[in-house]
Order: sequence, then structure tokens, then C-alpha cells
Amino acid sequence: MDFTISDEHRLLRDEIIRFARNELSPGVIERDRSGVFPRDLWLKCGEMGLQGLPVPEEYGGAGLDPLGTALALEALGYGCEDGGLTFAICAHLLACVVPVWKHGTEEQKQALLPALCSGRMIAVNGMTEPGSGSDAFAMHTQARRNGAGYRLTGRKTFGSNGPVADVALVYALTDATRGYHGGVTAFVVPTASDGFSVGQKFEKMGLRTSPISELVLEDVCVPDDAVLGGVGGGTALFTESMEWERICIAAVHVGTMQRLLEQATSYARTRTAFGRPIGKHQAVAHRLVDMKVRLEASRLLVYRAASRLDHARDIALDASLVKLFVSESLVKSALDAVQTMGGYGFMTEYHVERVLRDAVGSTLYSGTSEIQRNIMAGWMGL
Ligand SMILES: Cc1cc2nc3c(=O)[nH]c(=O)nc-3n(C[C@H](O)[C@H](O)[C@H](O)COP(=O)(O)OP(=O)(O)OC[C@H]3O[C@@H](n4cnc5c(N)ncnc54)[C@H](O)[C@@H]3O)c2cc1C
Repeated sequence: MDFTISDEHRLLRDEIIRFARNELSPGVIERDRSGVFPRDLWLKCGEMGLQGLPVPEEYGGAGLDPLGTALALEALGYGCEDGGLTFAICAHLLACVVPVWKHGTEEQKQALLPALCSGRMIAVNGMTEPGSGSDAFAMHTQARRNGAGYRLTGRKTFGSNGPVADVALVYALTDATRGYHGGVTAFVVPTASDGFSVGQKFEKMGLRTSPISELVLEDVCVPDDAVLGGVGGGTALFTESMEWERICIAAVHVGTMQRLLEQATSYARTRTAFGRPIGKHQAVAHRLVDMKVRLEASRLLVYRAASRLDHARDIALDASLVKLFVSESLVKSALDAVQTMGGYGFMTEYHVERVLRDAVGSTLYSGTSEIQRNIMAGWMGL
């Protein structure tokens, strides 16, 4: 397998890193503290094409292949210190824009994708419910036939971008007796619809600049053409979006791990204790080497999975493998960076404690580590 980066990808990567460092990272400590979603920066990201990386250019996207998308997101994770903003972009792009691009009718794609790719429209993915997270298809939200359309009733929770979204991708039961097996349908629902409201907004431990909330649907009426991917097609659509999300969010984590490693290594070269740089103490050096091993293994897993994303039959297995290993590596490496920097690592102004707080979410969203292990166990015939 050859993962040589083309000149085109290299240029794009450098451009994204420069943009992220100059435009997205400044002010992150204050934004994180106050939990503010930076809509102005979101729009700048739209101008850079980040919200539509893999979408064909004819719909306003950047037209990258999945590996190119992963490389671009890795660059974003490396250059952008605002992990919440990066996460908000991923939630929008991977769980909402990708399904519209992959499964939308021509009319849906033309109506939605240009605004979604440019960032003029923000999307939220509404799958999780108060009573169903890991067991996502144990949902209660119902879509009942209503004249030439559907009436949606239910309550979704933990919707990333929920408080600022213009459109929600809502999964609902169209046939409760079939559930997972063809009974779930995806709907594109404008958040300005009658009966739609945001509900509770949550404060988070990390990723604080990415807003998150409930989505409440009280008899929300939508026309037939709000159905995305066909009636009963929700399971396949959600599964595919999770494959993209698990692989491509891990690409962001690879970039973040690279930044952590560079920061901790340079600190270990210059900080002295007992008359020599702390990196000369074997216990410190070994920790940094472990961070390097985790980074390189994660990068290879992401590149391999991304290069297979659009055609491999067993991509669900790859996606779980990547998600599990990279998210757990990110948590460990963030903790290692804090430890390497001692008391300074614990202080906000050194920027690693925030990465640690952000990292904790990574083993929870897009399916917890336990769920990834369950999926892989199934593939292994266990
Ligand atoms: C930052 C963040 C952003 C999110 N964004 C979105 C979003 O945009 N849209 C959306 O729909 N959802 C979103 N979620 C929700 C996320 O998908 C769920 O939190 C996740 O799937 C876990 O569900 P739960 O929180 O209900 O935990 P539960 O399912 O209640 O699980 C609790 C614990 O039990 C374990 N567990 C459950 N079942 C099993 C099992 N069978 N075997 C072993 N262990 C098990 C879990 O692994 C976990 O450790 C987000 C979550 C977070 C943290």
C-alpha cells in the first residue's frame, strides 16, 4: 500500500494548516471558557471549503476523494487548536452533508448542498434519544403518514450544532414493527418548522465551542420529499454516515496527536531538571516514544481505512477499528502530554489540558469504545 502524498494534497494540507493557525486558533482559550460557537470562523471555514471536502464541485464541494478528505481533516486537527470548532465541522460534514450527497435526490442535493458546503446552512444529526444512545435503533421518535407527507413526534438529544442548526437530519420510525430492519427513515427537517424546538442545551467538559442540545419534535409536518434515502432506508444511511464519521474524525485526531507530540517533545528538550533536559530522563523519553508510536499507528490505520472507504465490503470493521484505536490513543497521548509538561501542562495557557478535556469525548461520540469492540467481536464471529 502506497500512501505517498501527491503535490496537490501537500499544497492543500499546507494551506489548511496556515489558515487554521492564523484564523482559527487565536482566542481559543476565551472561547472555550465562555463556550461560544464562533459563527464567523465557521463561515471562514466554509470559504475554505472545509464543510464540503468530499462533495463534488458541481454541488459546491471541494471534490476530494476520501483519502484527500482525511488528509485535509488531519491538517485541520493539526493546525486548529479549537477542537470544538473542528468537531462541529465534522458533525455537520460527516453525519449530515455526506448522507445528503450520497443518498439525496437530485432536487435535494441542489437545494441543500451548496448552502451546506459553504457553511451558510448548519446541520445537526438527530439520532440519539434520551432513552437510546448505544442502542440507537431503540428509538421512540415516530413519523406517521399525514396526507402528502409525514408528522414527526419525538425527542432527540446530544445533537451537535443543535442550538445553531438550520436543518436537522432526523431518524424516525416509519414502521415500529420492523425497527432496525427497514422500519427507520431519515428526514431532512428545517429547524424553523412549526413544532420544532431546540430543547435543553448542554454544557460540556470539552469541545466547549461546539454547541449541543436536544431537538424536540411536536407534530412537525414535512412533505414526502423530506425523506432522505427512501422510506425504510434510515438504517443503511446512518450506518454509512457512521463509517465516514468514525474514519474521518480519527483523521482529525491524528493531526491533534501530531501537535501534542511536537509540543511535548519541544518542551522535554528545553525544560531542565536535575541538571539536564527532562527528555534525557528515560522515563520521560519513553513516554514521548509511546506517543510517537501511537501517532504513526493511528495515521496508518486512518490512511488505509480512508483509501478503502468508498469500495471495501468490510469497511464497517475498519471504521470501528480506527475509531477505537485512534480515540483511545488520543486520550492517552493527551494525558501523556500533560504529564510531560508537569504543572505547566495542567495550566490553561499551555493548551494541552483543553486537548485532554476534548479528547475524553472521542471515546463516547460516534459509538463508544465498548460498542466498537462489540462490532469488531461480531465481525470476528464471537
Ligand atoms: C460530544 C458528543 C457529541 C455527540 N453528538 C451527537 C450528535 O450530533 N447526534 C447524535 O445523535 N448523538 C450525538 N452524541 C451521542 C452519542 O452518540 C452517544 O452519547 C453515544 O452513542 C452513547 O450513548 P449514551 O450516551 O446514551 O450511553 P449509553 O448507551 O447509555 O451507554 C452507557 C455506557 O454503557 C456502555 N454500553 C451500552 N451498551 C453496551 C453494550 N451492549 N456492551 C458494552 N457496553 C455497553 C456504553 O459503552 C457506555 O459506556 C454525542 C455525544 C457526545 C459525547
